[in-house]
Amino acid sequence: MNSDFGEKLITWYQKNKRHLPWRDSQVPYNIWLSEIILQQTRVNQGLAYYHRFVNAYPNVFVLAAASSDEIYHLWQGLGYYNRADNLMKTAKIIARQYNGKFPEDFEVLKTFPGIGDYTAAAVASLAFGKKQPVVDGNVYRVLSRIFGVETPINTTKGKKEFTTMAFRLMADYAPADFNQALMEFGALHCVPRHPDCETCIFRDSCFAQSVGRQSDFPVKKPKAAVGRRYYYYFVIQLRNHEEMYLYLNKRTSRSIWRNLYDFPSVETAVAMNSPLDSIREAQNKNLFGKYSVSFGTPSPAYEQQLTHLKVSACFIPVFIKEPFDDETKKSLLLVQKNQLINYPVPRLIARYLQDQNMTK
Ligand code: SF4
Repeated sequence: MNSDFGEKLITWYQKNKRHLPWRDSQVPYNIWLSEIILQQTRVNQGLAYYHRFVNAYPNVFVLAAASSDEIYHLWQGLGYYNRADNLMKTAKIIARQYNGKFPEDFEVLKTFPGIGDYTAAAVASLAFGKKQPVVDGNVYRVLSRIFGVETPINTTKGKKEFTTMAFRLMADYAPADFNQALMEFGALHCVPRHPDCETCIFRDSCFAQSVGRQSDFPVKKPKAAVGRRYYYYFVIQLRNHEEMYLYLNKRTSRSIWRNLYDFPSVETAVAMNSPLDSIREAQNKNLFGKYSVSFGTPSPAYEQQLTHLKVSACFIPVFIKEPFDDETKKSLLLVQKNQLINYPVPRLIARYLQDQNMTK
C-alpha cells in the first residue's frame, strides 16, 4: 500500500492543488509566515492576511523592526493573538541571532516561540526539503479513515502513532510534495462532512468507507468543559467642543486578549442579574473616582467563542464632563473617537464600535 498510496496521492495533488502564493515561493520566511497565520485559520481567510503581512513586511528584518501596535493592528480579526506575539519574538531572534536566515533543522526550529512540531515540520520540509512529516487536522482525518486508526489524535500516543505512519508513507517521495498532497487531499476531498467517497482514489482500500463509518474518524478524547466569562464594559465618553474622546484600557493580564485594548470593566464568572449590579460594582471599585457621571442604555450582549472560553460582553455608555485626574485615570488612555481605528481590539469590541459608528 505504501508506494501505491504515495503515487496515487501525488498524482491527485498535481491535478487538483490550489495555487497558493507560499507554495511556489520556497522562501522560508514566507512559508513560516503562512504557517503561523494558518495555525487556527482557514486558507480563504488567511490568504488576505498573508498578502497584507508580506506587503507590509517583505522580509524578517522589516517584521522584526515593526512596532507591536502596528502588528496587532494588521492581525486584527484573526484572533489567537498569542500567535502575533510569537511572530514578533521569532522575527527578532531570526533577524538578530541568525542574521535573517531560518535554520533548516527541525529540532532547532522547534525552539522558537510559536513553532511547535507542526510548524517546524512544515518549514523544514517545504522550505528545505527535509524528510519530516507534517501532521495537521487534515492528515489525521485522511490517515485515520483510510487505515482505520482509532487512537485519539489529541493524545501523545496518537500524535506519535500518526507521525510515524506519515513518516513511513512518505519514504519514497519528495517531502514537500508528499506533505502538501496529504494536507490538500484532506482539505479538498476527504473533508470532515460528506467526503466524496464515490470518486475517491482510495475508495477500494479505505477502511472507513468500507464499513460506512467516515464520520467516526478521526477519534478525539473528550475535552474539558468550556468556561464562561462576562464583561461589563464602561464606555466612558467625554465631549470636548465637537470632538468625542473615550477611555481605553490596554490589557496586560496573561489570561485573554493580552496587549489588545478594551474599556474599563467589571469581570465576572457568572452573569449579573442586571447591568445595574455592574454599575454598583464599578462604583465600589472606584472606577469613576469622585466624578459625577451619567449612564446611557446598556447594549445587548455581544458574544465571542474562544478556544476554552465563551465570552459575553455588555457595553454601558458613561458620560463625563471633564477628564479624569491621574488618580482615577490610572493607566487608561484618553483617545479621540476618530483615532480608535488605530488601536487593536478584540473582535467583540470591534463589532460594538462598528455598530456604534465609532470606527469612522
Ligand atoms: S474513501 Fe472517503 S473516507 Fe476514504 S479517503 Fe476517500 S474520501 Fe476519505
